Amino acid sequence: MQDIAKLIAGFRRFQGNYFRGDNELFTHLKDGQHPKTLVIGCSDSRVDPSLLTGADPGDLFVIRNVANLVPPYEPDAGYHGVSAALEYAVCQLQVEHIIILGHSQCGGIAGLMNSDCDCQVGEFIGKWVRLAEPAKKKVREELLDKSDLLQTRACEQAAIMLSLENLLTFPWLLQRVEDHSLFLHGWYFDIQRGELLRYSPDAEAYVPLAPANNHKIHSSHMPLKLKGTV
Ligand SMILES: [Zn+2]
Repeated sequence: MQDIAKLIAGFRRFQGNYFRGDNELFTHLKDGQHPKTLVIGCSDSRVDPSLLTGADPGDLFVIRNVANLVPPYEPDAGYHGVSAALEYAVCQLQVEHIIILGHSQCGGIAGLMNSDCDCQVGEFIGKWVRLAEPAKKKVREELLDKSDLLQTRACEQAAIMLSLENLLTFPWLLQRVEDHSLFLHGWYFDIQRGELLRYSPDAEAYVPLAPANNHKIHSSHMPLKLKGTV
C-alpha cells in the first residue's frame, strides 16, 4: 500500500499547489481545456510528457500507447482509440502542434526488433508493435552492419518518422498541415544521457534540442542517418 499512499500524498501536494492560495489556473480550466499541443508518447513510466516538459495542467493533450505509434487512417468498424483522440485534438481542440515523443530503451520497439522468430509477443502487443514493421525493415536494410543496440536505437527513431507519415494519412489533419495551422514534430528522449533530440529534415538526422548537461559525444550516440525520411 506504500505505493498508493505515495500517490495520495502526491495528490495532496497537487491540491495545495492548484486549489489553495492564489493559483488561479483551475479557475479557468474548470470551464474547459484549450491545449495548443498534442503529445503522442509511449506508455513507458519514465517518459511522462508533462513531467519532461514541465507542462502545467491544461497545456498538453496527451495520447500514450506502447511505442508511441500512430496507426494509418482506417475508417472502418474497428475500435480506434488513437485515431479518436487524434480527431478530437485536431478537429475539436484545434491543437497547433503535434509532437511524437519517442525514447531510448523502448520495450515496444525492442519487442519488434526481437520478433524475427515466430514467437508471438502477448495477445495484443505483437500485433500492435508490428505497425512499426516498415521502420524495422528500413533499419535492417540500411544499417545491417551496425550493432543490435544501434539498430534498435535507429528503429526507435525511424518509428517516430513512420508515425509522422501516418499522421498525414488522416485527411483532416493533412488539410491543417497544408494550411500551416498545424505543425508536426518528431522528438526523441535519450534516457541514458538525459537529452532531448528532434528530427531535423535538413540534417536528415536527430539533432540535440536540449543537449545533455555533460555533453560528450560518444560514437554510439552519433545521429544515425536513414535515407528517405520525412
Ligand atoms: Zn517505449
